[in-house]
Amino acid sequence: MFKKYGLLVWLTFLLAGGFIFTSVAGYLTSKNTLQQSLAEQTLPITGDNVYSEIQKDILRPVFTSSLMAHDTFVRDWMLNGEEDQELITKYLKEVKIKNNAVTSFLVSNQTLHYYHADGLLKTIKEGEPRDVWFYRVKNLKSDYETNVDVDLANHDAVTIFVNYRIKDYQGQFLGVTGIGLTLDTLRQLIDSYQKRFARRIMFADASGKIMLAGSGYRLKVQRLQDMPGLNAVAKEILANKKSQSLHLEYAGDKGTVLLNSRFLPELGWHLLVEQELESELRPVQNMLLVNIAISAGITLTIAVIMLFMVRRYQQRLERSASTDALTGLLNRQAFDFVFKAAILDAERSRQPMCAVLMDIDFFKKVNDKHGHLVGDHVLKEIAAITRRSLRESDVLCRWGGEEFLILLKNCTLEKATSIAENLRSTIEANDFSRTTDLLKTRMNVTVSMGVAQCKDNESEDSVFERADQALYQAKENGRNSVYFAE
Ligand code: GH3
Ligand code: MG
Ligand code: MG
Repeated sequence: MFKKYGLLVWLTFLLAGGFIFTSVAGYLTSKNTLQQSLAEQTLPITGDNVYSEIQKDILRPVFTSSLMAHDTFVRDWMLNGEEDQELITKYLKEVKIKNNAVTSFLVSNQTLHYYHADGLLKTIKEGEPRDVWFYRVKNLKSDYETNVDVDLANHDAVTIFVNYRIKDYQGQFLGVTGIGLTLDTLRQLIDSYQKRFARRIMFADASGKIMLAGSGYRLKVQRLQDMPGLNAVAKEILANKKSQSLHLEYAGDKGTVLLNSRFLPELGWHLLVEQELESELRPVQNMLLVNIAISAGITLTIAVIMLFMVRRYQQRLERSASTDALTGLLNRQAFDFVFKAAILDAERSRQPMCAVLMDIDFFKKVNDKHGHLVGDHVLKEIAAITRRSLRESDVLCRWGGEEFLILLKNCTLEKATSIAENLRSTIEANDFSRTTDLLKTRMNVTVSMGVAQCKDNESEDSVFERADQALYQAKENGRNSVYFAE
């Protein structure tokens, strides 16, 4: 099977291989392009967008707190002994309302009073866990910090505070002022970014502590360093203190995760934007599957078409091995088989069988006078006339150049001679110019025939020999006639 259809199998393999190669190469290219554009464009742009929103929404309170800390009224009021509490309360209320903040506050280093929009809240104490932040800000090297904490004045809601240091005109520490925003508002902000950009967003402070993340985010742990997968790149993220963003990737539980990280100096936080490569690749993978399915269909169709073509070609080859190309009759080799089978059949059924040898008269002259093409035409025409005048069961073969052999089954010598005679006269009467453009005028050709009946147990050669002798007699005696062997 493989040997017979070897070429077909190879071609199918080649075709399928070619299709698979181009599909996979196309997929890999798309995958690379996608991965590159995600890492170098999409994620950084998301980062930029989030950052600019953050600047709008978080940095405004930083600027507000800065203005408060530098306000001459605030500083003078503190330097003048914090006399009229109504004044500072009114001031803080104004700031809170104007900035739509959840709280606004001022803590004096002198009196340790904590003022907010509704007046004096409490006096802070060193060593009190809730007031630790004040002493931290007091010793802060930079001007401010952002801190996520619970707000005492606001039912302990988780709040992001901007704690700004107030200094007197000589640069001496006076206290801390600022405003606070609830984290809930921010979380909603992050959620809306996540939805809008279909990416995961989170913030971590300089130590790696996760400050903010969208809802539904895997926040089972507190620090980047403890997040499975992400911990591999946490060190790199936290080391980045430049404004440029970092392209990173790590192995998440659902495949490669691309990550873009940037440092937000205003908050001292790292902004992380993540995307799972797999989800982005899905359309490309689906395309690959569709491509492979189409390729398989095409390969199968071509293979089937080729199979049919090869079959037909083989049949034609097989036929041409047993057929004479010019007349379409059986050739001598093929006739041999047919004759052997026929003679056995005749012996078994005890039916007479005759062989007729037919030779065209002066055929050489036809060739010489009209050319080989006309000669060929005459051969074809005589073959066709003979075929038409025989029964389906009779066998006709081109025996040699211009000789034909006819096997008449279930036929006596008498009957065979009469059939031969009819055929001879039909050929004699035929105008060979009618069926070709090669001849302009009427042309007739005659044939001579020798008939012999197969005797019991007679060899093939012997029958033909006797038919040939009869034919020789016909030629000798003027041609255009039928002779039979006794
Ligand atoms: P005769 O009556 O004695 O049979 O004379 P003839 O000329 O027919 O006999 P001969 O056997 O001498 O010539 C046969 C010629 O048939 C010789 C050859 O050129 C020609 N011939 C044999 N095969 C073909 C063929 O396929 N096409 C053509 N055009 N001529 C062929
Ligand atoms: Mg001859
Ligand atoms: Mg001849």
